[in-house]
Amino acid sequence: FTRLRSRLAASGSPLGARLLSVLSKDHLSEGDWDELEETLLMADLGAGPTSELIEALRTQVRVHAIKDAAQVKELLRTELVKLVDPSLDRSLKIDRQGEGGELPAVVMVVGVNGTGKTTTLGKLTRVLVADGRSVLLGAADTFRAAAADQLETWGARVGVATVRSDRDGADPASVAFDAAKSAKEQDVDVLLVDTAGRLQNKTGLMDELGKIARVVTKEAPISEVLLVLDATTGQNGLNQARVFAQVAGVTGIVLTKLDGTAKGGIVVAVQRELGVPVKLIGLGEGPDDLAPFDAEQFVAGILG
Ligand code: GDP
Repeated sequence: FTRLRSRLAASGSPLGARLLSVLSKDHLSEGDWDELEETLLMADLGAGPTSELIEALRTQVRVHAIKDAAQVKELLRTELVKLVDPSLDRSLKIDRQGEGGELPAVVMVVGVNGTGKTTTLGKLTRVLVADGRSVLLGAADTFRAAAADQLETWGARVGVATVRSDRDGADPASVAFDAAKSAKEQDVDVLLVDTAGRLQNKTGLMDELGKIARVVTKEAPISEVLLVLDATTGQNGLNQARVFAQVAGVTGIVLTKLDGTAKGGIVVAVQRELGVPVKLIGLGEGPDDLAPFDAEQFVAGILG
């Protein structure tokens, strides 16, 4: 994890460009303030945080008689960083567990299909292996036929095995249990478990994820439940996030597909809504396109 390259999200994005065009003026007119507000809303910052932020900026501009847009930009940077909250603990719990470190760390990913769970685990596997950790993968997404193949391919590239079922539609909890058992037997450092995210039915989802968590916990406690969210899905993604947080005890968020979207403001909305930090961001489909989330870098990526 420490080796993950920090990268700027949303750099050169339409959001950044629009903000910069407003903030490069000598003086901010009422129209400019409206444009600023609209730009932040378009970035999915959420109505509440946006109006609080604009209010805070306008107050400071008034109190300090600020005329210069460059200074407003610096104030905006400070306020945005505060909103994203640099004080949150964003470290990934990937160290071995148990009194003598006899148990593997267990990281489970949850989220709607297509958000990037399998890809995120693939990228994470590479990072952990590069960091000198032994890893086992558990393909408990038995719903989507290709998911186990996809995971296995990611793992095989870095010499990591995948526990899977040969049957489509096999019991995901049984695959997860086998994976946890093997992880202990093989004495690996980290077990990564992929799951399916059918959202038609909250009770079904709760039953499935609950059962996976219970059987895995028989072997080793779950260190992290990472909710994978697609940054491009906006409010809809937030609704999904709520459901998963209710059923799965989420400990961190992975925000994927931040490349090519100006909607990075969802970071603020989702952290507020769930009270859970964004820990990782996905910046593309490639093997190295995963980065730890850093509040100041993130804001710098938006504001330049
Ligand atoms: P899952 O169903 O949640 O396991 O989703 P997948 O891992 O199969 O990903 C769905 C699609 O999103 C795939 O085409 C991935 O390559 C793509 N994807 C995943 N993460 C990212 C990302 O950070 N950026 C981009 N642009 N695409 C991504």
